[in-house]
Amino acid sequence: MNNPLVDKSETPFNTPPFSIIKNEHFKPGIEQLIKDAKTEIDTIVAQEGTPNFHNTIEALEKAGKQLDRASSIFFNLNSAETNDEIQSIAKEVSPLLTEFSNDILLNEGLFAKVKTVHDTIDTSALNTEQKTLLAKTYKGFVRNGALLNSNQQDQLRKIDVELAQLSLTFGEHVLAETNKYEMVIENETDLVGLPQFVIDQASETAKEKGHKGKWVFTLDYPSYVPFVTYAANRALRKELSIAAGSKAFKGDDLDNQEIVKKIASLRHQRANLLGYETHAHFILEERMAESPEKVMSFLSEIGTYGKGGAERDVNEVAEYAKQLDGIEELQRWDFAYYSEKLKKEKYTIDDEMLKPYFKLEYVIEGVFETAKRLFGLHFIPTKKIDKYHKDVMTYEVKDTRDKHIAVFYADFFPRAGKRAGAWMTSYAGQYKDAEGDHRPLVSIVCNFTKPTSSTPSLLTFNEVTTLFHEFGHALHGMLADGQYESLSGTSVFWDFVELPSQILENWCYEKECLDLFAKHYETGEAIPQHLIQKIKDSANFMEGYQTMRQLSFGMLDMAWHGQDNTELENVADFERSIMSQTDVLPPIPNTNMSCAFSHIFQGGYSAGYYSYKWAEVLDADAFAYFKEKGIFNNETASLFKDNILSKGGSDHPMTLYKKFRGQEPDVKALLKRAGLLKS
Ligand SMILES: [Zn+2]
Repeated sequence: MNNPLVDKSETPFNTPPFSIIKNEHFKPGIEQLIKDAKTEIDTIVAQEGTPNFHNTIEALEKAGKQLDRASSIFFNLNSAETNDEIQSIAKEVSPLLTEFSNDILLNEGLFAKVKTVHDTIDTSALNTEQKTLLAKTYKGFVRNGALLNSNQQDQLRKIDVELAQLSLTFGEHVLAETNKYEMVIENETDLVGLPQFVIDQASETAKEKGHKGKWVFTLDYPSYVPFVTYAANRALRKELSIAAGSKAFKGDDLDNQEIVKKIASLRHQRANLLGYETHAHFILEERMAESPEKVMSFLSEIGTYGKGGAERDVNEVAEYAKQLDGIEELQRWDFAYYSEKLKKEKYTIDDEMLKPYFKLEYVIEGVFETAKRLFGLHFIPTKKIDKYHKDVMTYEVKDTRDKHIAVFYADFFPRAGKRAGAWMTSYAGQYKDAEGDHRPLVSIVCNFTKPTSSTPSLLTFNEVTTLFHEFGHALHGMLADGQYESLSGTSVFWDFVELPSQILENWCYEKECLDLFAKHYETGEAIPQHLIQKIKDSANFMEGYQTMRQLSFGMLDMAWHGQDNTELENVADFERSIMSQTDVLPPIPNTNMSCAFSHIFQGGYSAGYYSYKWAEVLDADAFAYFKEKGIFNNETASLFKDNILSKGGSDHPMTLYKKFRGQEPDVKALLKRAGLLKS
């Protein structure tokens, strides 16, 4: 059978032939390509000569390229243009792909060759990127237990099975607790302060839950967050806050205390088995931050300066609450409510005032112009590239010398079949081989307000920064200039990947950049300076408090994963001893963060929560350099492009960063930007 996922296609720039790909091609295509990739791996294992970099490491890098292509087409569509059929195919092919990659990591013959290359070749003959590829390939096997004896390997697999089960149960408990709770409101006076759309939503929820004519609030964020932010009724805010904070912490059969202890101990055991001191040491080996010691000193440096700022924030809100409502002691369930009111009072700025200045077409021109001034890129709309939906825009990207750089897809509006949020992805990464330089196919997908017959698409300021953010990731992909696809573009350490995206958001706050595109969609008037100033000022509102909050989560995560907690008895005491270091408000009795901390006990953020702040420091420090030299300064932009954007993961991020900046990132850059440190 002809299958466009398998057959070589003749499309411009080797783009996916979307219009001829049908759902029935996915499963057989991916199965065929897995088979082909297995043959490629078998060939590597079967070859008789001495294993070397070229015939083993490079060959492995090249194996399965078409499978990667087909999977990215499939999973990108499953995110941006899915339907029931694609979703059910995903359930069938995902396990096949997982099994395939597990088989590679457990392939003893293959590891024997990789190990021979790793242990015996003279690496001085390799360039930096090749050394990185060798180390990364070898580590991939070793971190999966390839050096362990068979007893230890069995033990490792047993721990993995148990951990997977515990994470699942943890998540089920949190979900059940979230779903179980409802706060039924019968009195309309209890809704005072809430925006109308929140009230409407609560009335809908009440109908669904069999309380017609009343209002129901739940622990789902879209219900919980507006309530504690806007509801004037203090007792109800308290009730909802306690309910949210005590999820899976009630000593009943949905309690997670024993589970988090078990997860932490097993992770610790697992790390020891693989030769690491703690789980955090294991995780951080493949991070820019490198070690738990570095993460802890990073967090505590921020804490030193942040605490004063957080206390100032809390005092300001407490003062305001006292004045307004005679609140004697400000509690956690008051903070969001009074700080929101205070924010409104201090900065009369809202989405509706700004939106007329952010017409989507202008913002796109603005972000393209920014890329042109900084990196000499030109975005040329093209009709010759096949697309998966008519709303998708396609561009050919060229440099100043008219050289082809990338294909860029932009898919802006929500529709059934697209998941929520905004993201950057690619259909093919950049790499080089004997045929030449294979340029990438990069895409951003968003859910911005659609135009109507009378109004164009007008973005909120938040959507503007989102567009710049995703475009920053896209630049990382488009400007890639490496040898190996697995090290190119956004294939970098996890705490480094947000630098190109977050740094670009900074341009949205600069008059010089806003003047390029922020003009009224009817009158053409440029955005007034006082509005720009308000955007900037309000961005730092309560930054001290927020910083300490993020810090407390990062420290709790490191406490769970950066030491041996096998003997730990009381989860609540343990948590309190950590959180009290950063607290600026009285704790809420009978609540516990760990028992519902899904990021670290269910998702992939264990020993990684610090990276939110880490990424902010990187972008603040890097942008400070641009500010110093001029935000469109060519030399600074070239340094950023040549050392960061084009280099992907070909070298250690700290090395790349120092080449760009001349020094390690400085925490003070973030503290200054956040107004927590006077410059
Ligand atoms: Zn991002």
